[in-house]
Amino acid sequence: PFVPAARVRRIRESPSSAAAARVRELVAAGITVIDLTVGEPDFDTPRNVKDAAIAAIEAGETKYTPVNGTPELRAAIRERMLRATGVEYQDSQITVGGGGKQVIYLAFTASLDPGDEVIIPAPYWVSYPDMVLANDGTPVIVTTTAADRYKLTPQQLTDAITDRTRWLVLNAPSNPTGVTYSRDELLALAAVLAAHPHVRVLTDEIYDEITFGDAGSVGLAAAAPSIRDRVLTVNGVSKSYAMTGWRLGYAVGDPAVVRAINLLQSQTSSCPSSITQAAATAALTGDQSFIDETVAVYRARRDRALAGFAGIEGLVPIEPDGAFYLFVDCRGLLGRTTPAGATLETDLDVTLYLLDEAHVAVIQGSAYGLDGFFRLSYATSTETIDAGIQAVRSAVARLR
Ligand code: PLP
Repeated sequence: PFVPAARVRRIRESPSSAAAARVRELVAAGITVIDLTVGEPDFDTPRNVKDAAIAAIEAGETKYTPVNGTPELRAAIRERMLRATGVEYQDSQITVGGGGKQVIYLAFTASLDPGDEVIIPAPYWVSYPDMVLANDGTPVIVTTTAADRYKLTPQQLTDAITDRTRWLVLNAPSNPTGVTYSRDELLALAAVLAAHPHVRVLTDEIYDEITFGDAGSVGLAAAAPSIRDRVLTVNGVSKSYAMTGWRLGYAVGDPAVVRAINLLQSQTSSCPSSITQAAATAALTGDQSFIDETVAVYRARRDRALAGFAGIEGLVPIEPDGAFYLFVDCRGLLGRTTPAGATLETDLDVTLYLLDEAHVAVIQGSAYGLDGFFRLSYATSTETIDAGIQAVRSAVARLR
């Protein structure tokens, strides 16, 4: 029999993929499911982006490109980073890959030796700990609290750092909470890192265009120039331009880290799809009104979902500053009894109850490293959001 390698035996399937599979099963069985699990924009890719891809195909831009992307794509990334964050990067500081996900994975492959530690504040995007484990590292999970709006504090960071710490992972706007860090909060974390020059920061800013407040999302490299040399900033076109299926992400930072990632990339994928690179170049350099239009829609949906779920007894959603998720504290439902006589003991029990009783699909908080919560996505129509609120409210009302 086939025995997977130890690195594979250490990890699990992405819980979001698992939830999506469960929803497909129910749908195949003829049940209408209100799917609030989806982690991608429900908008179509903008016309100018599709046109650029078609033009690239017609022009024969269908061959291998440099490992670090076409010169046009690198220029587009440089301009975008300057425009959005005010930070100037050189070509030697840019790596591109098949999604932000692949770039983050290779950053760990490029840097971790067995026993190296990576600090990951919880709740976290589901993939970080498994990516660290798959690359022989040790995830060091730091649980954040409601009092700190589920953000890492300087004291928590200080306490978590050891001689073996290689990376701190930050993600803002956050998946699953949607919270962002202010400039002052980032500066306070940078002050801690100033005393620990062996620690680098991987900051995942893939949702930075999708924010609802006036302050937007502050990039770490821009906010904290004193540690900029140690900051690897990850971004991509998936979320901002509704391009999840095109697979293009990038990272900018220390040329030495970038070189190591590019070396791995040269022996794994060679380069991202040339057609996707042409499309991403158009996305980053073309008319940006798509972002404003879609963010306005996300904001309206956020307001609706936040008010709706906050109005359900036993549920306390966290107010998101960005992204398109609502992370809901459901500890108020634990200990309650379902009409069938079962007791809800965990957040997984709650999500299974909502799936079976309300036909609403959400993802349990424990998948994100925080028990007693669930995550829902409002990257879906207002009808679906409203139907979800109503169905959850009535299922909760049936609990004793
Ligand atoms: N980072 C976060 C926080 C995400 O939520 C996602 C996608 O769900 C990614 C990175 C990866 O996006 P992609 O690989 O499509 O660029």
